[in-house]
Amino acid sequence: MSWTYDPTNIFARILRGEIPNRTVMETPHTLVFHDIRPLAPVHVLAIPKGAYVSLDHFAAEAAEVEIMDFHRTVAKTCAILGLTGPDGFRAITNAGAHGLQEVPHYHLHILGGRVLGRLVE
Ligand code: 5GP
Repeated sequence: MSWTYDPTNIFARILRGEIPNRTVMETPHTLVFHDIRPLAPVHVLAIPKGAYVSLDHFAAEAAEVEIMDFHRTVAKTCAILGLTGPDGFRAITNAGAHGLQEVPHYHLHILGGRVLGRLVE
């Protein structure tokens, strides 16, 4: 899939402060905020602040500090939201047409708070 980044996508607009969001955590490299259409009692989105389209783009081109910060921030978010106990959580990413990616800025969905359904229909 293409790694050409569209700076008009909705998460780029959130990062520029053009659209409000309900922030859970923010670092110099990462933003975590509540999904506008939650699919579970906890449903937040973690995004790098850099212009990456998808996981493969982020993993290939981001600096190590961005990749480290992103995952550490996800882990801290899970702890803050009470997801690191025995009930656990799910972290998933959609990429491209087959993944039904809606917003072309890399994001990890973090879901929890109930038993979740099977992943693939
Ligand atoms: P995707 O299908 O790309 O993996 O998921 C995109 C997610 O972004 C969806 O769960 C959708 O509800 C969420 N979303 C779309 N627009 C907005 C928005 O303006 N604000 C927030 N907080 N979430 C959004």
